[in-house]
Amino acid sequence: MGKIDEILIQRNRKREKIRNLLYRYVEEQIPITELPDLEREISVQNQETQQLLFDIMMDEKGEVSNLALLILSENPTPRISHIIEKHLDLPHITGQQRSRLRALLVLHPDEYKKKESPGTHHKMGEILDFIDNFWQMMNPEDIGQIWIDEYHNTPARNKISLLGALFASGSTNYLPIYSVELGSPQVTVSRFVAESLGEMDSEEALRLLKTFPEPRHTGTRLAVEESLKTLRRKKRNGELAPGREKDNIPFFKAYVAEEDSTGFISVIFSRKTMQGSIRFLFALIDRWDRGIINCYGDEAGNTDDFYEMVELLNFQSSMIHYSESKKSYALWLLQEAEKLTLERGYHLLPDYLLWRRLIRDERKVSTRYPVRFGLSCCECGTPIRTVRDEIDAWIIHDIALCPDCIKKKTHCESCRSPLDPQKAYALARSDMAHITVICENCYLKANRKSHPPQ
Ligand SMILES: [Zn+2]
Ligand SMILES: [Zn+2]
Repeated sequence: MGKIDEILIQRNRKREKIRNLLYRYVEEQIPITELPDLEREISVQNQETQQLLFDIMMDEKGEVSNLALLILSENPTPRISHIIEKHLDLPHITGQQRSRLRALLVLHPDEYKKKESPGTHHKMGEILDFIDNFWQMMNPEDIGQIWIDEYHNTPARNKISLLGALFASGSTNYLPIYSVELGSPQVTVSRFVAESLGEMDSEEALRLLKTFPEPRHTGTRLAVEESLKTLRRKKRNGELAPGREKDNIPFFKAYVAEEDSTGFISVIFSRKTMQGSIRFLFALIDRWDRGIINCYGDEAGNTDDFYEMVELLNFQSSMIHYSESKKSYALWLLQEAEKLTLERGYHLLPDYLLWRRLIRDERKVSTRYPVRFGLSCCECGTPIRTVRDEIDAWIIHDIALCPDCIKKKTHCESCRSPLDPQKAYALARSDMAHITVICENCYLKANRKSHPPQ
């Protein structure tokens, strides 16, 4: 008997400790980005902690309960799923407790797949009303990030059912998710989102569609055009709710780093919130072929943290250097890169589709800068691909020769003597779209001319 008492006392103490930590977190309004620290502090992976969090989620009120729910949803375990199932069947739980349990199930992707079949919209709606409250304390980009991590790889049918429930809520909180799925490689999904956006009554939906890069698939493209028409009409009739104040954050700074020999450019584009934090996107661009090839976004607590990050990036690499850039140039690079990605038949990355929120109300930059996007063979026009590790084309000063055309270079273009392309010298001038191939003799002669002995 004594032993059980002791265990119970210990457990109670631990529960109180966790409960107090959660209260402090909520009261001090600690940003959600610091949640991992809290999770470490309470050792969230511990089974007993999970059970205690579950109890707190069920028994406490308001944000502390939401917080426990959020932590559990970020650290799913089969054990918790089992506990939820058991509790859902209990007759004496309240309506609110039941919706918390269901919310947790929704946030548990594996459990969700098992439990919810397509066409369970009404049940979802009830849950979403509840979840909506704690979305309010999160950044829009964080909501999109959760979606990418948990749901982006869901099969199209299930995803459409889930998206249908989000659209049914009418909430603009989910726009970051729609932005990700509007560019989805799953055509049924992108079309569904394009169509559903037209049914929204918010100016934010119009903003998203207006600057979205033209979708590759015809069905989606037509749906976007149709929705744009509808939303523009609603706007004229004054039927659209204005965007939220907290989403209008001014431009802060842009940085660009360029590397000519690889065709890589990286862009940092940032905005400063009312609270002084900096939201930024970082995009790596392959301007020869693939366009946007990597992207992530984050929030720096203040300007100093942000500058420190840029400095650190410069410090880590001796090859590239980020220099501050004009906003229009950074924007132009991003716009050209996303166009190239789609033109070349690739898909925009989910993370980019999410973080391009930061440029979504920017107009198309009309200035043309002397940077070349999309490399093709200068002799036959074949697009140069950079997907493989080693590019088999010759590229000199942004002028390219494809492998087939390389093979045809069997004679020196200066003295016409036969040559082996692998041992030849290839020369190009950036102002002439041609690669000249010459033999070693001619190369040495040419070099002597241009560099007279001192
Ligand atoms: Zn060629
Ligand atoms: Zn020659």
